[in-house]
Amino acid sequence: MGEASENRLLIIDDEAQIRSLVIDVAEIAGFAAQEADEPEAFFDACASFQPTVIVLDLQMPQADGIEILRRLSQDKVVAKVLLISGVDQKVLNTAKRFGSAEGLQMLGALTKPFDLNELKALLAKARRGAPTFARADLERAIDNREFVVYYQPKVKLDAEKAQKIEGAEALVRWMHPQHGLLPPDSFIPLAERENVIGRLTDLVLDISFDHLRLCLKANPSLLLSVNFAAQLLDDLDMPDRLARMAQDRGLPAEQIILEITETGVMRDAIRVMDVLTRFRLKNFGLSMDDFGTGYSSLVQLYRLPFSELKIDKSFVMDADSSEEARAIIRSAILLGHELKLNVCAEGVETQSALDFLYSLGCDKAQGYLIGRPMPADRFLELLTNEASSD
Ligand code: C2E
Ligand code: MG
Ligand code: MG
Repeated sequence: MGEASENRLLIIDDEAQIRSLVIDVAEIAGFAAQEADEPEAFFDACASFQPTVIVLDLQMPQADGIEILRRLSQDKVVAKVLLISGVDQKVLNTAKRFGSAEGLQMLGALTKPFDLNELKALLAKARRGAPTFARADLERAIDNREFVVYYQPKVKLDAEKAQKIEGAEALVRWMHPQHGLLPPDSFIPLAERENVIGRLTDLVLDISFDHLRLCLKANPSLLLSVNFAAQLLDDLDMPDRLARMAQDRGLPAEQIILEITETGVMRDAIRVMDVLTRFRLKNFGLSMDDFGTGYSSLVQLYRLPFSELKIDKSFVMDADSSEEARAIIRSAILLGHELKLNVCAEGVETQSALDFLYSLGCDKAQGYLIGRPMPADRFLELLTNEASSD
């Protein structure tokens, strides 16, 4: 396959000038490019041309950008989507979040008139970025166990500011034979859409439970957090299966936390409540991941038996620069504590953000400042050093 045919860009915009501008930039960036000025032609081109990048104008006279996003999601389109529009950045960001929530891979959002360099950079990222995969690729990779699990430390924010490692979050990566180490964002959405996430999670649990067993030798009270796609909560057998997996390895359920992203929690509400409650009865911890980004978070916190609330990194990373972000963090910590939950902040990148969290009584922190995700052997080394130093 030639280079140009591996990178295909399709733009839909009613303004001919914007279309030709984007196509020029795309072709220089090594894309084959096609254009459409209305939805029907656009969806036809989607089917025949199979773009790897879609540039979508949110505001067109005869079409609604949000409806187009919804249809792309229904059609399970795997192309990366770049939004452009004359509307303000806030509306664009909301549309981008909508696209992500619908399972699309959102590349970014640009306001017109946009900086050509910004467009170039985004296209370069899409090109270099993870190639698009199909279900069969993932299934084969799972069969071949091509996945590795990295660990990112979580520390307890206690009075002594000791920053002792209390736990770790398991974060999966795909060690692809051709493309190298791929981040979860390049395959988890596909795994969820194609219903292979169950098999992938089983593999992550299998690997990380073995690692936990090793790590417990250095720190017997270590907690392991594992990400759990909300759609797996439809499976009534899950709590028993997980309990068995832990028991077979002699791992205490109290030391295993399932991180569930709130966007997906509410599918079949009754079933989810059933499964989550049984997880808690078996003593697993339940964390609401990415708190503040999804839907109905308050209702879910109120109705479902969570034990931890994890403040989304987007707020924590903005803590130094945005009063609004600080207000949300402050409220989330208050709310979590009122509901008797442990509150963890993720995305802690600066000392000042960490100080801010300390001052508010946040219970746990995770982020690049404390430690980046690392391979299991390095994490074990870290634990061993810590154990020998106290
Ligand atoms: P998450 O569960 O919210 O995990 C935190 C993500 O934030 C990780 O990205 C981590 O590397 C990143 N991060 C942590 N601290 C910082 C920081 O200080 N600054 C910045 N900029 N980023 C930070 P990663 O590893 O790329 O994972 C992305 C997402 O993929 C995870 O978000 C999680 O939702 C999903 N994921 C990872 N592993 C699994 C898995 O085994 N199963 C499922 N279902 N999802 C997974
Ligand atoms: Mg997580
Ligand atoms: Mg998160």
